[in-house]
Amino acid sequence: MVPVIALVGRPNVGKSTLFNCLTRSRDALVANYAGLTRDRKYGEADIAGRRCIVIDTGGISGDETGIDTIMAGQSLQAIDEADSVLFMVDCRDGLTPADAMIAKHLRVTGKRTYLVANKIDGLNHDLAVAPFYELGLGDIYATTATHGRGVKTLMQAVLDGCEPQATAGVAENSEDERSENKTAAGEDTAEEIAGGIKIAIAGRPNVGKSTLVNRLLGEERVVVYDLPGTTRDSIYINYERQGKAYTLIDTAGVRRRKNIKLTVEKFSIVKTLQAIDDANVVILLLDASEGLVDQDLHLMGHVIDAGRALVVALNKWDGLEDDHKSYLKKELERRLRFVDFADIHFISALHGTGVGHLYQSVERAYHSATDKLTTNHLTRILQDAVGDHPPPLVHGHRIKLRYAHPGGHNPPIIVIHGNQTEAVPAHYRRYLEKTFRRALELHGTPIRIEFKTTE
Ligand code: GDP
Ligand code: GDP
Repeated sequence: MVPVIALVGRPNVGKSTLFNCLTRSRDALVANYAGLTRDRKYGEADIAGRRCIVIDTGGISGDETGIDTIMAGQSLQAIDEADSVLFMVDCRDGLTPADAMIAKHLRVTGKRTYLVANKIDGLNHDLAVAPFYELGLGDIYATTATHGRGVKTLMQAVLDGCEPQATAGVAENSEDERSENKTAAGEDTAEEIAGGIKIAIAGRPNVGKSTLVNRLLGEERVVVYDLPGTTRDSIYINYERQGKAYTLIDTAGVRRRKNIKLTVEKFSIVKTLQAIDDANVVILLLDASEGLVDQDLHLMGHVIDAGRALVVALNKWDGLEDDHKSYLKKELERRLRFVDFADIHFISALHGTGVGHLYQSVERAYHSATDKLTTNHLTRILQDAVGDHPPPLVHGHRIKLRYAHPGGHNPPIIVIHGNQTEAVPAHYRRYLEKTFRRALELHGTPIRIEFKTTE
């Protein structure tokens, strides 16, 4: 499971700076819920090839009185959602009472905490760091977030601390899961179908996720097996439809166990991002009554970054005027050009219209994302592509692309070997991507092209 890391500390210690350094600010998602003084920001970082979710909290001013007030807002939520906490302090300010209060709280929560002494630049390391040992949080990681110094060492320690987690909660909850839902099959059948396509239903609040989950599971042809695992609050539901196995990752909490209280909001960004990462295919729901909004695009960006297959469904298509429908269609075509490989469906989860057709796209996207590719085939496509349009000259030498082999699936990765491959221009990479996509009939999945220089 993708580790979740929260940045916590007083304002101005450098949390946003570190957040930007880790996530390069791409696609930050902002959670702004009523009652929060400052928003939480969510981003994804790639650390030594491992993805993690980073949460930046607004910060705790230190003017608040008492731990309840200072921890009442988004910091508390973020700590709750996180596996590890980066607690940042400011070397220029030295140790402050607010730091001590935050440390005390973190010790109580028992979350893995890393003490980050930031703004070490220009200071004597040992002297600047010394006062913070008093916080009793163990090792101190000195950083200069503005230059990214010390960040690698810090993040390596964080990742080392993130052991692959067992799916918490499954064992203790499986009993009531089973009794609460119809158990149509024994363990064996559940085992057999465990290899089904994992589909995540994702989208912002109120787009109709719960309605769609209920609709998909309520279909007559569907047999639901309940041996779900949980990820944060997402529920995994195994089912069978027309003899095919699926696992639905329900981020909307439709099948939430009744005895589990809503600790986090019904819609949680962490939950959504983790579900996307863990899925084979994501059905991203949009709301036709509201059109396409920024958060939809951010979520789509995350699906692409995660390399997941994608099916877009514009929900609440019922009851719209024809004019509005054609306007929406044009709007989507224009703004979703960056995911033009994905099918778009116009559905009504409420009435069931178009819902069954989603499966065709899911199946096609899944097969495109996971079917085996061979070195022979890929190399032949590459050679044809190069024959039709040779790569450009660089410093008077032609880039040579010799052969290609598969490097992974979901998303399909195509590794191309040649020389001067670092000089392959973006437009030529796009040309190759398009050519491979067409020749391999890959539909509904992002693909990755990687170059390797072999002299
Ligand atoms: P936040 O409120 O905790 O998110 O803090 P910011 O990231 O907004 O940083 C507050 C100020 O500290 C900004 O002016 C940053 O440029 C500066 N800052 C952040 N990290 C460093 C650092 O490592 N060294 C120095 N000298 N300044 C820093
Ligand atoms: P979620 O927050 O994404 O799980 O959204 P819900 O499934 O709870 O739906 C939010 C609201 O939209 C509810 O009032 C639903 O009845 C309504 N809704 C869901 N799907 C449709 C649809 O296809 N058409 C219309 N008109 N309303 C819908």
